[in-house]
Amino acid sequence: MMNYCYECGTELVSRELDGEGMVSYCKTCRCFRFPIYSTAVSIIVLDPQKKRILLIQQYGRESNILVAGYVNRGESAESAVARELNEEIGINAVKIHFNRSEFFERSNTLMLNFTCIADSDSLEGLNTKEVDKAQWFTFEQAKAEIRPDSLARRFLLAYLSDIAGSGQEW
Ligand SMILES: [Zn+2]
Repeated sequence: MMNYCYECGTELVSRELDGEGMVSYCKTCRCFRFPIYSTAVSIIVLDPQKKRILLIQQYGRESNILVAGYVNRGESAESAVARELNEEIGINAVKIHFNRSEFFERSNTLMLNFTCIADSDSLEGLNTKEVDKAQWFTFEQAKAEIRPDSLARRFLLAYLSDIAGSGQEW
């Protein structure tokens, strides 16, 4: 729970909110105060044959990561997946599947990891203002090429382990 109100700095107390249990409350603002953090999506993009994974390079760094982006206020996470893929890579998501989430302390962001199947493997529509490089890799290559010690790598390895263990196609 938070200790102080983010609007006025008053020390918060616990108060019961109908149906929600005990929630932090500011007596000065007379408002319940929920924790504030960002939400982002991280996307394992599969080609239409479900044989290759898309990794990208961004912000001048030469290591490979997953496509990712923040969820806008009022937007569903699934819509953010489709929008980011379209904006950054120029392709469309046909099917979207939620995998798992992890809180990323450094950017105060809840990261939601999805897999999606792309409608095309064409990279001609790549948004070169946001993405330096995008490339398709086989599953084995992707495991080897993704940035070491990254959240993207943890998400990718967990997903590949899931599908290997369950026999599901993607
Ligand atoms: Zn307050």
